[in-house]
Amino acid sequence: MAVDGGNMAQAVIDTAYNERKRLHTGRSRTTTMVVLGVLAAIGIFLALVVGKSDPDTAPTCDGHTMTRTSVCRIWSNHGGGGTYSYDEMIDRRESSNGVWRGIGFGAAGLAAVLMMVAYTKLDPNRPWGNPVSAACPRCRELNLREKLTVHSITKGRTTYRYSGIVTLCTPACGFSTIRQR
Ligand SMILES: [Zn+2]
Repeated sequence: MAVDGGNMAQAVIDTAYNERKRLHTGRSRTTTMVVLGVLAAIGIFLALVVGKSDPDTAPTCDGHTMTRTSVCRIWSNHGGGGTYSYDEMIDRRESSNGVWRGIGFGAAGLAAVLMMVAYTKLDPNRPWGNPVSAACPRCRELNLREKLTVHSITKGRTTYRYSGIVTLCTPACGFSTIRQR
């Protein structure tokens, strides 16, 4: 793909501006919290509803409710096939529910940990990027901060990634520059 180097450099700088804005307005944190909150809710749903322990309800065999005296024959080409009694079918269901509980609580726990990390990392009061020890060439103040920034463009199935270390001064000054790693 033919790329205009100057335009791509500006696009990466614009991405850095947008990231800084999203961080400082708290939008990054809000979005991340909502996504992780939904993930936690799905996990809890899987654990408590899909994986609910229910040892007293009659098991089903191929969609039909079993009676105490019926047997269930399961054909399987990846193991686990055979003939199962009423109680064995309850055990199978309980063990599968246990797996869902593990997955559900696992996902909810992971989401909760990530929420705590994101809450701190994406704090709107946290400055964007890392401090630069040189004075800004425009305003002469020590306000420069830099961060490795990636701008990606998807064309069809290919994603093109452009990256560089973007240095930004305060919004009031408006100085920006980019260099390669
Ligand atoms: Zn400046």
